[in-house]
Amino acid sequence: MYYDLKFRHIPYVESKFSVVEFDAGHNLMPHGSTEGVQARYNVLGPVMLPIRLGGDIVQFNWYLYFLDSEQARTKIMETLAEGKIDYDFFTKFSEAFTVNSVLSLGEQEHNLKPESVPVVRLHSCCATGDIFGSCRCDCGPQLDAALKSIARDGYGAVLYLSGQEGRGIGLFAKALTYLLQECGHDTFEANALLKLPEDARTFDDAGHMLKFLYPNKPVRLMTNSPHKIEALRRVGVDVAERVELVRGVVAQNEGYLRAKAARGHMIELDQHQDQDQDQPPAVTPLPATAINGVAPASLTPMAATSAVVREAKALHAQDA
Ligand SMILES: [Zn+2]
Repeated sequence: MYYDLKFRHIPYVESKFSVVEFDAGHNLMPHGSTEGVQARYNVLGPVMLPIRLGGDIVQFNWYLYFLDSEQARTKIMETLAEGKIDYDFFTKFSEAFTVNSVLSLGEQEHNLKPESVPVVRLHSCCATGDIFGSCRCDCGPQLDAALKSIARDGYGAVLYLSGQEGRGIGLFAKALTYLLQECGHDTFEANALLKLPEDARTFDDAGHMLKFLYPNKPVRLMTNSPHKIEALRRVGVDVAERVELVRGVVAQNEGYLRAKAARGHMIELDQHQDQDQDQPPAVTPLPATAINGVAPASLTPMAATSAVVREAKALHAQDA
């Protein structure tokens, strides 16, 4: 991690750096606020990041954010002082000190259009699924489908949550749970056997970043998890639609997905056994929920923006 903020004084870099602050009610505070700050983030971006997606290269806007180091330190010191070093201390520690990423498209152009609604995904880091291509979970194909879906719409973002490996328990503990799963325990029972929480993640920071990226906008959330929808609504993000994201179902992860479905995840496995991986995710309307007394904006289906993809193809052709 890089906490020496002197880089801010390098010309050009300075224009890409923001300090973003929220009050106790999770409201974005005006720039330069001094009192009532509850959460402060350092945000860098956009940095251009060309990403290979299928046969295309799509240039995403990459933002990085981390909790202000003094705030992260205070959070951990308070936990220590209260003697709360329990088994989810790792999660609290890694969430407080992690650098998260946002891979975004179209925010500058579409934020000003009332009819445009971004499609977003909160993706918890998964080294085995995202990097190694492991089929013990569905993370890799979900990440790929989410990025493709955003590229197709031209407006949306994946928030890549780096401190949330193994639903927050970390990579080593995740490997231990895999051993326990080989003995017949499901993914949640394995956590419990290790005295670890079934799900140790929080999504407040992700919710704050969505409010920064999309001020006063509803979002369409790509998820099967009711927990993520509730968590975002709790910090005042208007989740107007759920976009189902079932991808990468294979024999090796069926037990894992069935365990998730039994814990309330909205996954109907039998419908997805022979899915076409290239079909766009299906949209499920959610009941409208007023946030802070304000009813969500009505939604109009978005026309796919192909400009980004055309641009990406041109870039690809130049490279070839
Ligand atoms: Zn995974």
